[in-house]
Amino acid sequence: ALDIGRDLGRALASARMFEREHQLVGELQELAEYKSHLVATVSHELRTPLTSIVGYLEILAEDPNLSDLSHTAIAAIRRGSTRLSRVVEELLVLHRTADATGLDGAGPVDLTPVVADIVELNTGPAQARGITMTTTLPGGPAPVLGIAHELEHVVANLVGNAVKYTRGGGHVDVRLEADDGEVVLTCTDDGIGISAADQQHVFEEFYRSADPEAAQQSGTGLGLAIVRRLAARHGGRVDLESALGTGSTFRVRLPAAAGVSAPGS
Ligand code: ADP
Repeated sequence: ALDIGRDLGRALASARMFEREHQLVGELQELAEYKSHLVATVSHELRTPLTSIVGYLEILAEDPNLSDLSHTAIAAIRRGSTRLSRVVEELLVLHRTADATGLDGAGPVDLTPVVADIVELNTGPAQARGITMTTTLPGGPAPVLGIAHELEHVVANLVGNAVKYTRGGGHVDVRLEADDGEVVLTCTDDGIGISAADQQHVFEEFYRSADPEAAQQSGTGLGLAIVRRLAARHGGRVDLESALGTGSTFRVRLPAAAGVSAPGS
């Protein structure tokens, strides 16, 4: 009889513990929803005044009667507000793409012209810094089922980072392949590279490497978090190979749009 009493006591204790854990999970979910709601609300509220600040600054900057001090001040305010706008826009993208909903409006997107355009857009800024770019594209379309501007965002972030984190005289290679039901984008640079410790974190929101050379570049630490999230939304994934001082390779694999086969396959 004693043993039964003890067993019952234990069962009761673990039932209470289970109930408490259940409650904690609920509270954590509520907290996560609150955080996401807060981020979305604040970003939306910041967006409108920022747009007018940036707009008026552009007008002010054109004023021919400005003193040197005003010029310097306006330039600094412009840089600050542009950076703030970028953070706000990226936070909104991050919020809008929290899960796979919203992909209903998706259609086949051909990544071949997308990659060609983005490489072309980056070639000028790369050249200005003494960086050469090469591209290898498939002979035909590379269709992915998705949302065009989100897929463009993925390519633009990776190519932009490759140029940003490469020194003068360096090289960036962008390759797109379509085969075996998969579309693969590979972006390789011989830039500053990412240490093994940083590789564990670079896809986290707001994470920026403390490496002094990386920290010289301005950024929000949201780019790669967005890339990973957008790729996941499209049923794909991103991997990274890198060595500090040698360079980095980011590879995005996306399922090819069903029913459209790659040329030659
Ligand atoms: P941001 O560039 O705005 O800091 P990202 O999320 O795009 O944010 O990147 C996170 C960090 O990963 C960067 O701060 C940088 O340290 C590192 N990183 C990203 N891409 C590269 C790259 N191609 N080469 C070296 N470091 C990179």
